[in-house]
Amino acid sequence: MSDDVDVPESHPRYESLLTRHRIEAGVDMGITSRQGLIAQGRGEAYDYLLGEETIDSADRAERAAAAYLLSAEHAVISVNGNAAALVPGELVELSEVTGADLEVNLFNRTEERIERIAEYLKQHGAEAVRGLTADGRIPGLDHERAKVDADGIGDADVVLVPLEDGDRAEALGEMGKTELVVDLNPLSRSAQVATVPIVDNIIRAIPAITEHARELHEDRDAQRTAIDSFDASTALTDAEAAIRGGA
Ligand code: ATP
Ligand code: MG
Repeated sequence: MSDDVDVPESHPRYESLLTRHRIEAGVDMGITSRQGLIAQGRGEAYDYLLGEETIDSADRAERAAAAYLLSAEHAVISVNGNAAALVPGELVELSEVTGADLEVNLFNRTEERIERIAEYLKQHGAEAVRGLTADGRIPGLDHERAKVDADGIGDADVVLVPLEDGDRAEALGEMGKTELVVDLNPLSRSAQVATVPIVDNIIRAIPAITEHARELHEDRDAQRTAIDSFDASTALTDAEAAIRGGA
């Protein structure tokens, strides 16, 4: 990573400091909400306990997620203010490699922030960004949080939701969608309801999914194996054990 910030690369926790800086800059640019700062703090605590590295079961989850994205009829990557601030270019790359759409979807939704995030993704190479039409709804949620694009998340069979709120993750699951959730807290409801819970920092998770997708791209059998051999509850148990220091 090479951002123009005053974080010394020699610092032992360089990546963590850089991440924090990106979220701060995201708030200044009007793409991340102030609540996003709190979510970041929670994430950092879990990442610290995980040793700030991708554990083996998270890598398997990343591979399964790549396989689901590649074999989907219509895959959509949901982008919120934290995801956009932390990994804009990486999200665009993942969408290119897998053919998944990008859709801005916010818990604290304002039209202005949606437009800013869409613009920011375009600056990072995105050709099309969904989320501005908002003509569909997720049943069971109240008004603003329920909005999605009817031909985006509304129509998707597979949705990648980084750092999704538990309620919305649950409602999307009830719509019958395959949910791939990136969340550093294995106890979070979002991780618990996911088809594929990826307990890893989004900074590491998105490039890892892209890497697996490149490898699995032409290989239907390997995609099947990655999906069939993945077990969500084992992944959650493994992550919890790693956090408690037992793995
Ligand atoms: P619950 O899911 O239990 O209802 P919540 O979703 O309301 O809780 P938030 O603080 O809103 O809790 O959610 C933020 C979630 O995102 C936390 O679980 C946090 O660990 C996770 N998170 C924050 N930053 C990152 C990151 N960089 N990578 C991965 N996960 C992150
Ligand atoms: Mg959550």
